Amino acid sequence: MKVVTTFEQARDAASGTVGLVPTMGFLHEGHLSLVEACADECDTTVVTVFVNPTQFGDPADLDAYPRDLERDVALAERSGADIVVAPTVEYMYPSGARTTIEVAGVGDAMEGVHRPGHFRGVATVVAKLFAGLRPDRAYFGRKDAQQLAVITTMARDLSFPVAVESGPIVREPDGLALSSRNVRLGSGDRRAARSLSSGLLAAADRYDEGCRSTAELVETVIAELGSEGAVPEYVAVADAATAEPMGRLAGSQFLAVAARVGSVRLIDNITIHNDTAVVDRGTRLEAPSILYGGP
Ligand code: AMP
Repeated sequence: MKVVTTFEQARDAASGTVGLVPTMGFLHEGHLSLVEACADECDTTVVTVFVNPTQFGDPADLDAYPRDLERDVALAERSGADIVVAPTVEYMYPSGARTTIEVAGVGDAMEGVHRPGHFRGVATVVAKLFAGLRPDRAYFGRKDAQQLAVITTMARDLSFPVAVESGPIVREPDGLALSSRNVRLGSGDRRAARSLSSGLLAAADRYDEGCRSTAELVETVIAELGSEGAVPEYVAVADAATAEPMGRLAGSQFLAVAARVGSVRLIDNITIHNDTAVVDRGTRLEAPSILYGGP
């Protein structure tokens, strides 16, 4: 496996069908499930590790973001990556860079309200990865459901010749969605952190029992958050493709939550396919994540 810092080096090392897995590093099984899917389907699997400053509104959050490239390289290689690209901030954003990408509408609600400018940073950096690495396929997690809608729309609108693929949310054995940020949770925060997934999963159960009211599903999540001390930013139902908030169930939508647990901001969601009455709850690990035990 090669570790490189520029797009050109990565392109030189790649051959055949190229798959891309963009990450901000501090890898866990959620990222690695995407690397494995990519390695199964593509000749060359490229993993990028870049903590993208333009998608952070809060400098303290950017500073506190966990980083360990050596660990990431070992984990990516084990999961089938051929190339890890770890560019510098100066390479990605040379002085004088002025162009940004705004995906109108899709990024406005939910995360867009609470993290102004976040999706501009995400869409711009992913467009740069698509342009610089020219992947045939790119893999994203449904953990970031609104981000997936933003990127799918951006790739279509700008005619990037890339197939945007998505993978299921990977959860801890207790349901908590894996996130690199989970390592910042204190031991006393765990119950509150778990309330995001337990609220969503309780809402999924209500859906399975026949509930079709978005207000009741949202209320189920909020009640669970409140009882465990997580501070909700939003709980909403939104169209899976456009991320537009929806007042009633139709087609595919996600029920999404963002909440603060201490100083850590967490997000999670389930996807409801109302046409087939199937809820995608994601997958669960059988043992605690490598986030806590090291590789
Ligand atoms: P990040 O490093 O947080 O920017 O995430 C990189 C990619 O991994 C994104 O496409 C995320 O949606 C995906 N991802 C992060 N956490 C999970 C998870 N728990 N399950 C599945 N995919 C995930």
